[in-house]
Amino acid sequence: MKRIAIIGAGPVGLACASWILSKTPDAHLDLYDRLAESDDAISQGDSRGIAVSQGSHLLLNSIGAWPNNSPAIHKIHVSHRGHFGRAIVRREELNQAALGHIVRYADIHLAIRKALKKISSSSPNFNWHFSQTIDTLDKNNLADVVIHAEGGLFKQQEWQEIYRDYEQTAIVGWIKTDRAHQHLAWERFTEEGPLALLPSHKGQEYLNLVWCGNPKATEDRLALNPQEFLSQLQKAFGSRAGKFIDAGELRSYDLGLNARKEIVSGHEVWIGNAAQTMHPVAGQGLNLGLRDAHTLAESLTTHHTAQEALDQYQVLRKTDRNTTIATTDFLARIFTSKLKPVICARGIALASLQLLIPVKQSLTRQMMFGQR
Ligand SMILES: Cc1cc2nc3c(=O)[nH]c(=O)nc-3n(C[C@H](O)[C@H](O)[C@H](O)COP(=O)(O)OP(=O)(O)OC[C@H]3O[C@@H](n4cnc5c(N)ncnc54)[C@H](O)[C@@H]3O)c2cc1C
Repeated sequence: MKRIAIIGAGPVGLACASWILSKTPDAHLDLYDRLAESDDAISQGDSRGIAVSQGSHLLLNSIGAWPNNSPAIHKIHVSHRGHFGRAIVRREELNQAALGHIVRYADIHLAIRKALKKISSSSPNFNWHFSQTIDTLDKNNLADVVIHAEGGLFKQQEWQEIYRDYEQTAIVGWIKTDRAHQHLAWERFTEEGPLALLPSHKGQEYLNLVWCGNPKATEDRLALNPQEFLSQLQKAFGSRAGKFIDAGELRSYDLGLNARKEIVSGHEVWIGNAAQTMHPVAGQGLNLGLRDAHTLAESLTTHHTAQEALDQYQVLRKTDRNTTIATTDFLARIFTSKLKPVICARGIALASLQLLIPVKQSLTRQMMFGQR
């Protein structure tokens, strides 16, 4: 039986381990987790709101990993500040209970951790190495298959072959409004980058903010007093989501594309952010990473040799990965272009998207379920 090692126990590494063990409980699997066994550091950590697609929701349900407090998205409103054209996507058009959910990074991380603890309780050959990084270990003799799931954030990772710095930084945090969110997600494109307001786990009057801008403007915004910050945000977004009355937990992230050309090399394979880190404009990073993890687990548990499994994995992930990276890169760049023909074309594109229902549905399906 092949020996498998997973390095990195973020949401993607944990989900991969869970899918492997739920299919083959006696798999020889070692998971290297940089974090300690206690959940404390995770629960007090990253409170960023992540849009998890309906496709990921279904995948995570298969291992019983779903956080309790995860407001659903029923409608998405896409617009372009100062220009014509808008598109609205409704769950009814896709015949889905929800278009997606918003979960805190910490909550989804903990939910998958808990699911793996339960699943692995009947796995005699599974070892979970806490407070352990790979740096001190010999990668060549670790296992027959070494899965890299070390993840990471843009500018904090090693540079890969596919690299683009959008020179944008995102402010994330929560906003309190005088209006209930009613399960509506807003994506407003501005000249500096997208500005998203999403339902929040904090309650109906709260929204998760992702405000992308150039790094200097972001730094200046974060230095403003709360009232000035809210007034600038209101000016940038408009009044559609109500009056902004408070904000909190504001911090910033650098944004860019950093992806590997090859996701398999010898007995090593890369999944999640270790394979591709993307701009959050379309909310695809974790969703794509979970699809990586699920496909890899399927390949490893259905093929006899490690090489066969990795060869199949590489082929199966090609289209979804390339399409998602390209779509995200396109969206991150097209709306910040100041060229007149491009400005005109994107207005027409948004307006036509609203009218061409089959095109809108097909795009939304790609974002929700990936390329199948
Ligand atoms: C502002 C922002 C908003 C985003 N919004 C969305 C969204 O709406 N929807 C979406 O799908 N995605 C979104 N993303 C992307 C999403 O956060 C990532 O794609 C996702 O977290 C990747 O998960 P991962 O497990 O691959 O990596 P990570 O979440 O980075 O986890 C990696 C884990 O590996 C551990 N580790 C690292 N190095 C080692 C080592 N050497 N040895 C052992 N362990 C190690 C780390 O401690 C960590 O626990 C967003 C990202 C940002 C920055």
